Amino acid sequence: MPHAHDRTEDNDDVRRQTEIEVEVPDLGRARASISVTALKRFWRCELAYWFAYVAQRGQPVSAGEWSLGAIVHGTLQRLFNLPPERRSFESLLELALAEWRVDHPTEYFDHLYLARSKAAGIFRVVDVQQVQVVGTEVAVAQTFGRFELKGRIDLLYRDHNGTNVVADYKTRLRWPKSPLQDPMLTMLTYDTLLSARYSSPDVATVLELLGLDPPVAERSNSIMAEDRARHRSEIARHLDRLAAADGTDIWSGRVRPSCDSCAFHDHCPAVLEARRPKGSASRVALRAEDLPPPRRSDQ
Ligand code: SF4
Repeated sequence: MPHAHDRTEDNDDVRRQTEIEVEVPDLGRARASISVTALKRFWRCELAYWFAYVAQRGQPVSAGEWSLGAIVHGTLQRLFNLPPERRSFESLLELALAEWRVDHPTEYFDHLYLARSKAAGIFRVVDVQQVQVVGTEVAVAQTFGRFELKGRIDLLYRDHNGTNVVADYKTRLRWPKSPLQDPMLTMLTYDTLLSARYSSPDVATVLELLGLDPPVAERSNSIMAEDRARHRSEIARHLDRLAAADGTDIWSGRVRPSCDSCAFHDHCPAVLEARRPKGSASRVALRAEDLPPPRRSDQ
C-alpha cells in the first residue's frame, strides 16, 4: 500500500474530488465532549478530524502565546457587559488593556492601539448603546448519543425591533470557499444548541456576523423551529458517523482542491492517492511514523 512519505508517483495535475478510506494507526478514540469547531472539521473531512482530535497532531487555531483576535473578543465582551451609557469608543483602550492584563500582568502591550482599532469596528456595525444585551460568551451544549456538543456564543442581544440576535464577531470576514466553510452554518449550530433554553420552540432568531476590519455586518433570514429541527437532524447524522468511524480504524479522507490549505496536507495519504492516475486505490494506509509530531499539550 502507498504511504504518505512515498511521493515518487505524484502527479500534481490529477486533482479529483473523491473520498478515499484511510486505515489509521490506533492512537486512541474520539472524546465524548466535542466542540462546534471540531464538528465542523469532521463535517468537512473525517480524516482531518482524526488528525486533529484523535491523533492530536497539528496546531489548534488559537495556538500561540497570545492572539489579537482573542484580545479583541475579550475587549468586546467587556464593552457589552458595561451599562449602555458607558459603552463608548473612549472606553476601548482601557478595556483592551484590561483584557491583555489577564494573562500578562506586567508586560507592555505593543499592539494596544491595533487591538482598539479592530474592536472599534463594532461601532460601525451595531448600535452598541441601543442593543439590549442578553448575554456575552454564552456557553451552549446539547447531548447527541455518546457526544456532548459544546460551543460559545459571542453575543446574544435584542435589537430595537425586539428581534433576538445570535451574533459572532469576526476580526475579518472572509468569503467562504464552500458552503461548509460558511460561518453562518456554525452560527446555526449555536442557535440550535441554544434553542433548548427558548421559552417556546416558535421563538424566531436571526444570526448575525459582525466583521470588524473592515466593518461589515451580515444577517440571516429568521431562523424558525423547523430550521433548527432540520439542522439538529443533520448534526445527529454527522455525530452518528463519527461514532461509527470511531469504532473502526478506517476514516474517510475527502479530497478536494481546498485540501491545499489543510494543515495535514503534507501527511495525508488520501491526497497522495488522489493525485495518482485513474485506477488508484479506494483505501490506503497511514503509518504512525508518517504523522507530524504530536502537539505539546492538549488544547
Ligand atoms: S488534506 Fe484533504 S483529505 Fe487530507 S485530511 Fe486534509 S482535508 Fe482531509
